[in-house]
Amino acid sequence: METVRTRIRKNDIVQVVSGRGRGKIRADSGQERGKRGKVLEVDKVKGRAKVQGLKMVFRHLKQSKDPQKPGGGRIEREAPIALANLIIVCPKCDEATRIGVRMEKQERDGGKIKTRRVRVCKKCGADILDRD
Ligand SMILES: [Zn+2]
Repeated sequence: METVRTRIRKNDIVQVVSGRGRGKIRADSGQERGKRGKVLEVDKVKGRAKVQGLKMVFRHLKQSKDPQKPGGGRIEREAPIALANLIIVCPKCDEATRIGVRMEKQERDGGKIKTRRVRVCKKCGADILDRD
């Protein structure tokens, strides 16, 4: 399946930036621009991510026979935001930043060398490690 290339991973802190459409503010980023949150999940197929507390939508529930949730109601949940509208926030310098990648060679047991890609903040040079 075709997937989007992204450096954004689950549990990263991201900031919403305006859409890249020419001069056009994308409906899904406009009101959340500048806000930050933690990535809950990344959908590489759709090129979108859910970010904790951002772009909340209400889902209306129908009257339910479930005694746990009588009378239906509505729940609030995150709607997916386009990855192109998200930028990673560096945990060290706290800047919404561009990310570089550094190759790091690690020697494994038995002398095998494995290359690991480490994301690096382009502003302060700090490694941005996966947080999970
Ligand atoms: Zn940084």
